[in-house]
Amino acid sequence: TPSTTVALRATGLSKNFHGFLAVNAVDLEVAAGGVHALVGPNGAGKTTLFNLLSGFLQPSTGTITVFGEDVTGLQPEQIAHKGVARSFQITSLFENLNPREHVELALQSRTTQGRKFWRSEKLLGRFTDRAGELLDLVGLAELAEKPAGLLAYGQKRALEMALVMALDPKIMLLDEPTAGMGIEDVHRTIELVKKIADGRTVVFVDHNMHVVGSLADRVTVLQQGRILAEGTYQEVRSDPRVITAYLGE
Ligand code: ADP
Repeated sequence: TPSTTVALRATGLSKNFHGFLAVNAVDLEVAAGGVHALVGPNGAGKTTLFNLLSGFLQPSTGTITVFGEDVTGLQPEQIAHKGVARSFQITSLFENLNPREHVELALQSRTTQGRKFWRSEKLLGRFTDRAGELLDLVGLAELAEKPAGLLAYGQKRALEMALVMALDPKIMLLDEPTAGMGIEDVHRTIELVKKIADGRTVVFVDHNMHVVGSLADRVTVLQQGRILAEGTYQEVRSDPRVITAYLGE
């Protein structure tokens, strides 16, 4: 078989919360350019695994590599610097700032010179162009000047996606990108993730199996902190252990 580049690898990864193994000896390999879904019943350890991969939690045991480089123990900002970006939560939006301003802030935060040139009109001009492109990409061009506090739920989620994209990550971690959405926003989000996955590696958690089936080329099923099954969507959905795990939810 031809060797594929591994973008993200977890080896023997565990998280022990006072004796409870929320993530238990997980081995995970995400191919570069792949779209990889993490699924599993509530309490399976998906959020904990995401937190470990993005540095928001430190593993009890195990290692994490990003394009072959050991990033175990690094802080979230340091992992972000290695090209791993996690979707922002809506709660982190500034009610009074509009989408353009949010994206400009995100763009500035990723340049090392961002702070230094904070007041440079030239630089801000360049960011505004890029901000416009990103807002266009996520379908918010018309709403660029509307305070974020006044955006509809789906629009806020689209803005989160623009903020992740502003970091120009090699690997995007999307935490339930379609959670709480109506069918129209779900379809819009599927198309958006397809678009932004082009040339990037995406790992996402989602409960909506239509979303998983539409996007993921690889699916890992977690149950009680362990990997229960892994394969294509077609493979895992017909796996009797997976069916049992879901019926038992
Ligand atoms: P999922 O995202 O798949 O629903 P989680 O990763 O949120 O699962 O949780 C996995 C398990 O770990 C759950 O039983 C949860 O109660 C437990 N857990 C998560 N975070 C903590 C914590 N900070 N302290 C103790 N237990 C936790």
